[in-house]
Amino acid sequence: MIKILPLDQISQITVFNYWQLNSIRIVSATPLFTMGKDSSICYTAHFDLVVIGGGSGGLACAKEASTLGKKVAIVDHVEPTVHGTTWGLGGTCVNVGCIPKKLMHQAALLGQSLQDARHYGWQLPSSSYEHSWETLRDGVRNYIKSLNWGYRVQLKNKKIDYLNGKGTFLSRHEIKVDLKSGNNYVIAVGGRPRIPNNIPGAREYAISSDDLFSLDKAPGKVLIIGAGYIALECAGFLSGIGCDTSIMARSICLRSFDQDMVSLITENMEEEGISFIRKSQPLRMSKTTGDKIEVEYENTETGLKSIGLYDNVMFAVGRDPTTASLNLNVANVKIHPESKKILAENEQTTCPNIYAIGDVLHGKPELTPVAIHAGRLLARRLCNVSSTQMDYAQIPTTIFTPLEYGCIGISEAKAEELYFKENIEVYHAFYLPLEYAITQRVCKQCYVKAVCLKSDNERIIGLHFLGPNAGEVIQGFATAMKCGVTYDQVVNTIGIHPTCAEEVVKLRISRSSGEDPTVTGC
Ligand code: FAD
Ligand code: NDP
Repeated sequence: MIKILPLDQISQITVFNYWQLNSIRIVSATPLFTMGKDSSICYTAHFDLVVIGGGSGGLACAKEASTLGKKVAIVDHVEPTVHGTTWGLGGTCVNVGCIPKKLMHQAALLGQSLQDARHYGWQLPSSSYEHSWETLRDGVRNYIKSLNWGYRVQLKNKKIDYLNGKGTFLSRHEIKVDLKSGNNYVIAVGGRPRIPNNIPGAREYAISSDDLFSLDKAPGKVLIIGAGYIALECAGFLSGIGCDTSIMARSICLRSFDQDMVSLITENMEEEGISFIRKSQPLRMSKTTGDKIEVEYENTETGLKSIGLYDNVMFAVGRDPTTASLNLNVANVKIHPESKKILAENEQTTCPNIYAIGDVLHGKPELTPVAIHAGRLLARRLCNVSSTQMDYAQIPTTIFTPLEYGCIGISEAKAEELYFKENIEVYHAFYLPLEYAITQRVCKQCYVKAVCLKSDNERIIGLHFLGPNAGEVIQGFATAMKCGVTYDQVVNTIGIHPTCAEEVVKLRISRSSGEDPTVTGC
């Protein structure tokens, strides 16, 4: 039933009231809430800013604008996957991205630590351990629910109106009564995993990372198609918790990363028991009578066809922006013809009162802290308290593979392409983390590399770290690199002993010297 309130009571509508409505559409920055099918029945209320998308970027932007005194609404809607998976407020990172991924990565690391523990004197009751997928999944799920709830509380405390509905533009200014110029929208709708529609059976039988973290049963024997961040990270933790895991890569792994580092990552993953089906692509999928998924695939070089049987097949072949249902053309917001992502300069789209942040932006990294920072800065600019623009250069990142890889800046190959080989010096080291030393772990891949620009006082333009806690290590060096740190400044920094991070400040062997970069002793 639709209840119509007079305009002056609108501020008294609580978030709870909104949840009870079945269909809400916000159609302008001075929103017009139309309920049911009759668009003539509406509530109006004034907002300075309406954010579409309650993920990392959208929440950050909305909270910052509200802190700065603006009246803000945030609209968030999750379209269920084809398998029916859905989730709460907080977007990809919290529900089906960084958070469940990192927790499951931690589960895998703990399995490894259990094996190490014996070498540290722990008398564990049995030599083989069972892993319970259900316990892990439920622990992760409960934590995520607490985060979903926490976001709702934050929005309520900040007096941000949260509308659990799907935002669609009806026009650039679909104004009920009193739109004031300068009122703004922020599009922060992120993206969703891509599942190719030219592979018979893919949509029916394959899952994506949106489904993985909440599977009913332990994933069993898994094939992951794709060789980017998500494929490698998910393969890493699945294998770590005992799943028989394969990766099908059509070309190279982690294309935009330093390929020296990537070779070490994949070598380590193979040693951990993950299979790589290289230069291959799936042709079709079907369900067998034994409830397995049969995948026929082809080697793209030899044309040789093969068949594999799996309990789960997951696509991790990139993500598509959620722009299709926004009806952006009526608002004159242009998208890139291929990526379908929003074209924007300084987060302002081709429609002056409409902005975009996060994964939905064309040509920008798909990373949570990028969305958050861009959202905060945008809110501050929209509230006229700052003119600082988002700097998309030198963004650090970490891939949470079994051996973690953290980096900032460019790869060695890119450096040579941009500045020529003779102008580049590389300092590097293979090291053994102390914590591995007394275990029986064979790990030859822990490696650090600093790529330096000779003509600029050996300024470090790429820093690459492969080893435990890579994200923790690279975070601090990222600040140094933003400040233009040189090789000399890094090696004149006193290390913290004994750590893996100190291997960066101990880098002494240059590639040009030809010396063996293996670190021995302290
Ligand atoms: P999102 O967080 O995707 O939020 C968009 C929100 O808008 C969603 O809730 C969506 O349902 C909603 N929405 C969409 N359309 C509409 C509409 N029309 N109306 C209303 N609401 C709508 N990044 C890292 O930095 N580190 C990591 O370790 C990391 N791990 C990841 C692991 C996985 C498996 C995945 C998938 C991603 C990972 N990422 C990681 C990337 C990170 O999650 C994203 O970059 C980040 O969430 C993007 O934030 P966003 O605000 O742009 O979009
Ligand atoms: P990526 O863009 O990283 O990788 C996509 C992979 O899929 C590539 O290996 C690509 O191969 C392959 N691929 C693309 N199309 C096909 C196809 N049709 N058939 C087979 N393979 C195909 O995407 P992801 O989905 O892994 O991740 C999306 C983004 O999420 C990342 O770029 C990252 O920004 C973010 N993320 C960040 C994480 C972190 O910070 N730790 C973790 C996870 C995600 P090719 O190179 O040949 O095109």
